[in-house]
Amino acid sequence: MLLRSVILAAARNDGLKRLVTYAPVSRNVVSRFVAGEGVEDAVRASRELTSQGLAVSLDHLGEDTTEPEHAAATAKAYLTLLHRLAEEGLTAGAEVSVKLSAIGQALDEALAVQHARDICAAAHAVGTTVTLDMEDHTTTDSTLAVLAQLRRDYPDTGAVLQAYLRRTEADCRELAYPGSRVRLCKGAYDEPPEVAFADQHEVDRSYVRCLNLLMAGAGYPMVATHDPRLIAIADERARWYGRERGSYEYQMLYGVRPDEQRRLIGLGERVRVYVPYGDEWYGYLMRRLAERPANVTFFLRAMVRKS
Ligand SMILES: Cc1cc2nc3c(=O)[nH]c(=O)nc-3n(C[C@H](O)[C@H](O)[C@H](O)COP(=O)(O)OP(=O)(O)OC[C@H]3O[C@@H](n4cnc5c(N)ncnc54)[C@H](O)[C@@H]3O)c2cc1C
Repeated sequence: MLLRSVILAAARNDGLKRLVTYAPVSRNVVSRFVAGEGVEDAVRASRELTSQGLAVSLDHLGEDTTEPEHAAATAKAYLTLLHRLAEEGLTAGAEVSVKLSAIGQALDEALAVQHARDICAAAHAVGTTVTLDMEDHTTTDSTLAVLAQLRRDYPDTGAVLQAYLRRTEADCRELAYPGSRVRLCKGAYDEPPEVAFADQHEVDRSYVRCLNLLMAGAGYPMVATHDPRLIAIADERARWYGRERGSYEYQMLYGVRPDEQRRLIGLGERVRVYVPYGDEWYGYLMRRLAERPANVTFFLRAMVRKS
C-alpha cells in the first residue's frame, strides 16, 4: 500500500514527469501499456484486436487539463479518431473512453459538457458509444451529473464506478436500470480512508457486492478487472442471475493478461480491451506501475540495462 501511495504521489510530480517522459528507455516500457502516440496507432491496434474477436475502448491520453485550448484540442482528437474508425469500418467493435478532466472539467464543467456532447454526437453518427472514465473522488459527483445530462440525448453513454469508494454500492443501485452501461472497476487513485476502503480484501468484497447489484439489475454490466477470483465470481453470478452471454462484458487493459482476454473470447464471452494512445501517457503509466510492484521492477530493470 505504501509503495502504491508513493508511486501515485510521483504521478503528480512535475520534475519526475519530465525525467520519465524524456528518458529514452521509457518508450520501451510505455509500449507495453500504450498503443502508440498517434491516431493511426490507435486505428492499427483497433484493427488488430477486433480481428481477434475482441472489442476495444480507445482512450486519447491526457488528464487534468488547465487550458481551454488544450481541452478543445483533446475533444478534436476524439472527433478525428471517430472519423478514422468509421473510414476503416471499425466502429462496430470500437468505442471511446473519455476523461472529463481532459476536456476541461476543472476549468468549467459546462465547457466539459459541451465537448463531451460533441464527442457523443460524433460517436452516435458513426454507430458507436462513449464511456466516461471515472477519476479521483473529488470529481465523482460532477462526473455522474454530467453523465445524467449526456444520457438524456445519448442514453448509451457508459458510466464507470469504482468499488474502492464507500459510496459505490449506492451508485450501483441508482445506475442498474434498463440500457444503463456501467463499467465496474476497483479504482486506481490514491484516496483517503474517509471515502475509500484501504484494505484490498475490503475493496474485493465491495466489488462483489456491486457486481451482484449490477448483474441482478436491468443494465449492462462491464466487468473491468484482471483479478482471476473476481472474473470467476462474475461468471458464476451471470449464470445465477440468468444472464445470457453478451448481456454483460468483461474489460481489461491493453497489455495486461492478453491470454486471459483470449481465453474468455474462446468461451464465447464478450471482451473489450481498453486501449490508450497519445503522448500524455505519464499519469496513466504511473497508475499501472502502482497496481503491480512487478511492473516497477520491469521499469527499473529496463532503466539499468540502458544506463
Ligand atoms: C477496462 C478498464 C477500465 C478502467 N477504467 C478505470 C477508470 O475509469 N477509473 C479508475 O479509477 N480505474 C479504472 N481502471 C483501473 C482499475 O480501477 C484498477 O486499478 C485496475 O484494473 C487493476 O485492478 P484489477 O481489478 O485488475 O485487480 P488487481 O488486484 O490490481 O490485479 C489482479 C491481477 O491482475 C494482474 N494485473 C492487474 N493490473 C496489472 C498491471 N497494471 N500490469 C500487469 N498485471 C496486472 C495481475 O496479475 C494481478 O495480480 C480500469 C481498468 C480496466 C480493466
